[in-house]
Amino acid sequence: MLEVRDLSAHYGDAQALWQVDLDVAAAETVCLVGPNGAGKTTLVHTIAGLHRATTGSVRVDGVEVSGVPGHRVCDHGVAVVPEGRRVFGHMTVRDNLLLGAYRRGARGEHRRTEKEVYELFPRLAERAHQHAGTLSGGEQQMLAIGRALMARPRLLLLDEPSLGLAPVVVDEVFDAIAEIAATGVGVLVVEQDVHRALAAADRGYLIVEGRMAAGGTASELAASPVVRQRVLGM
Ligand code: ATP
Repeated sequence: MLEVRDLSAHYGDAQALWQVDLDVAAAETVCLVGPNGAGKTTLVHTIAGLHRATTGSVRVDGVEVSGVPGHRVCDHGVAVVPEGRRVFGHMTVRDNLLLGAYRRGARGEHRRTEKEVYELFPRLAERAHQHAGTLSGGEQQMLAIGRALMARPRLLLLDEPSLGLAPVVVDEVFDAIAEIAATGVGVLVVEQDVHRALAAADRGYLIVEGRMAAGGTASELAASPVVRQRVLGM
């Protein structure tokens, strides 16, 4: 579903990604791990059209989206849950969700999708008319994921969804991610907690200093010397 080939990206003269390759299939959960500043967020943003690639290709279901602006990449079925959640605190939970449904193809389905989001996250249904700013951090993360789902994506990109959450809440978030993938959505999740990421993912990639340093099934990665050295500190 997602094919990234030979992707490079810069910030001004500074190169942040070097010839990156990455794949995500439908119904697959793929994790992206790596040290701070390795380029994980840059890669997610470049796939989503929020940062322009210098060279290389990003194909979603065979359609080239590299060079397509972010607000158009979502028309190709890509949704992002940004780092730090970025929900609108002064708006209700429901209005935050509805904002996610603006893309053509999702708008007409918003009632059905909203119901599905509430089934996935019953706490959002209970708090539908509360301001998002009154939610706990975990609930705001659920809302950010729910808002992305309102676009009915085929590919969901999550940037550090566990950041700042209590372990029990992180479990809930990863359970939800597994349910989302089980519906056929391809999931790419950036995660700091490598053990958690490898436990949740089918496959994964290690990125170091803007380059792919390892890739494989979760168990292959866990056993990989470069993963053990660079991120597990072994
Ligand atoms: P973290 O885990 O700390 O979030 P990351 O793996 O997501 O890190 P990126 O945020 O993608 O890494 O950063 C990759 C490189 O690009 C780093 O060297 C960073 O300093 C640089 N960088 C990121 N954003 C910008 C920016 N807006 N302007 C210039 N350089 C940037």
